[in-house]
Amino acid sequence: MHLSKLEAMRTPQIYFRQDVLCETLGGNTCPLLTITAMPESKSSDHICQFRNRPLIFLSARVHPGETNASWVMKGTLEFLMGSSPLAVSLREAYIFKIVPMLNPDGVINGNHRCSLSGEDLNRQWQNPNPELHPTIYHTKGLLQYLAYIQRAPLVFCDYHGHSRKKNVFMYGCSVKETVWQSDISATSSDLHEDLGYRTLPKILSQIAPAFSMASSSFVVERSKESTARVVVWREIGVKRSYTMESTLCGCDQGKYKGLQIGTRELEEMGSQFCMALLRLKRLTGLRNHQHLLDMESDIIGTHTKPVRSVMKNLLQSHRVVCTNQAKY
Ligand SMILES: [Zn+2]
Repeated sequence: MHLSKLEAMRTPQIYFRQDVLCETLGGNTCPLLTITAMPESKSSDHICQFRNRPLIFLSARVHPGETNASWVMKGTLEFLMGSSPLAVSLREAYIFKIVPMLNPDGVINGNHRCSLSGEDLNRQWQNPNPELHPTIYHTKGLLQYLAYIQRAPLVFCDYHGHSRKKNVFMYGCSVKETVWQSDISATSSDLHEDLGYRTLPKILSQIAPAFSMASSSFVVERSKESTARVVVWREIGVKRSYTMESTLCGCDQGKYKGLQIGTRELEEMGSQFCMALLRLKRLTGLRNHQHLLDMESDIIGTHTKPVRSVMKNLLQSHRVVCTNQAKY
C-alpha cells in the first residue's frame, strides 16, 4: 500500500525502482527499492556521476513486533521521494538501496520477533539458509555482490524498535571501544582506529531531538555476532554499519523529554536520518582527507590517530563483556 503511494510521488527527476528481492517461506514477496536522482543529462560526465554515487543501504522490520521501525522507515522513504531542496540534494548525492521489511511473513502472521520458521532472523546473518532465511540470504548476497564490484555502501543501517530503553540511538561497531570493555590483553592507548563510525550518530544527536548519543554504543558483543550490523561491518567491510533503535516509550532528554513518542516523532526521525546523511556527505566529500579527519574529530569531540589493528585478537576472544543485554 505504502509502496504505491511512493510510486505516485515519483517525478521525472527521480529514479525510483521496485524489485522483488526474493520470495519468503510463506510465499510473500520481499521488496527492494532503489532511489536516487536521474542523471542530469545523457552526457558522459553526468552518467559517470550517476553511476559513481556512494550507496546507502537501509533495512527495517526484521523483528515484526517493532512497528516503530516501520514508522521511521516511512519517514525516511517519504523524505527521499519528496520535493524539498534537501531531498533533491540527497538523491543527487547517493543511491539508496532499501529493504523496508525484512520479515514480511512475521508481520503478516502477527509474530512478535520470529520468522515463519520460528527463528530470530537477526541472528542468521553469519550463515543464512536460502530456504529458511531467504530475505537475509539475499540481502547479504546483494551486499556481498556490491562489495565484490567495489561498491560497498558508505552506510548500512537496520532500523529496529526498543521495548524498554528510551530515546532513539544507535549500535555501531568499534574495535577500540570493544577492547575497552573487555579484558583482552592490549594497551588501549596502542589501539588506533578511524573514528568515522561516530560521525553519523554525532550528527544525529545534534539535529534530531529524540536521538541520544549517550544511549548509543559501539561495542561488538559476542552474542550479537550474527546480527546484521556486525556481519555487514566484519564481512562486507562497512565501517559505518549500524542498528538504529527507536524507543517504544519516550525520551529522557531533549525537546521530547518526559513525553510518549508517537508516529509523528518517529516519522520525523526518519527524515532527520536523511538530513544527517546529507551532512555526512558534505564531510566525506571533502577532497583534503586530513581536513576531513579534523572536521570529523571536531564533530566527534576527539582526535583520530594512526591505525594498528587488533581485530584478530578481538574477534578470537570469547571474553568480550556484554554491556547491554537488551535484544535487538
Ligand atoms: Zn529488533
